[in-house]
Amino acid sequence: MKTIGLLGGMSWESSSIYYKLINERVKEKLGKHHSAKSLMYSVDFQHIKDLQFAGKWDEATDELINAAKCIEKGGADFLLICTNTMHKMAEDIQTAITMPVLHIADMTGEAIKQCGITKIGLLATKFTMEQEFYKGRLQSNDNIEVIVPNERERNIIHDVIYNELCLGKVRDESKRQYVEIIDKLIEQGAEGIILGCTEITMLIKEQDISVPVFDTTKIHAIKAADHAMNEE
Ligand code: GLU
Repeated sequence: MKTIGLLGGMSWESSSIYYKLINERVKEKLGKHHSAKSLMYSVDFQHIKDLQFAGKWDEATDELINAAKCIEKGGADFLLICTNTMHKMAEDIQTAITMPVLHIADMTGEAIKQCGITKIGLLATKFTMEQEFYKGRLQSNDNIEVIVPNERERNIIHDVIYNELCLGKVRDESKRQYVEIIDKLIEQGAEGIILGCTEITMLIKEQDISVPVFDTTKIHAIKAADHAMNEE
């Protein structure tokens, strides 16, 4: 079995979900007392968040490269960056290490294509919804049209992620707001919805939404477990 490297702590709330999902998948496939071989480097998220909000992306990239190198030295065979947003620097991280990075947007794009969906709604941080590193990758690599909520709605999505979900708070009112925003994306032609932030899985479940839901935490974790077991 390969050893999974996890670049986590962004936030630890979602990293703990990754850890659980990966081990559950290995147990489901291999049975007995099997569990995943993994190494996690968990950052101090306050520090990373300060750099994000100050637009100090180069410094954040250096921090994550340093963490990725530690994981590689520790013996991991491949790397998961356990956040959609910080895939902004996925290519820089990949260049700095030898082990492959399993890119969250590529794994998600593959799952979307398997469902025959060509137009998708994206909920994520403002960084991910507004910049090109994520939407552009899905558009150019997978030919998937990505639509995002309007500015007011993007602010709601973003604030709920940082002020609630990353702190472990799950509120009914926020869920109601998310579902309303998702319904508008469906009215605009979204055939599916990407939960493009690794904490949204705490708030929105597949059964809340009338179209297929692509939960990036679940997709990324399960692909990683299968890759570690050579079960793809
Ligand atoms: N976990 C989140 C994501 O998937 C947001 C936290 C972060 O800024 O990394 O984008």
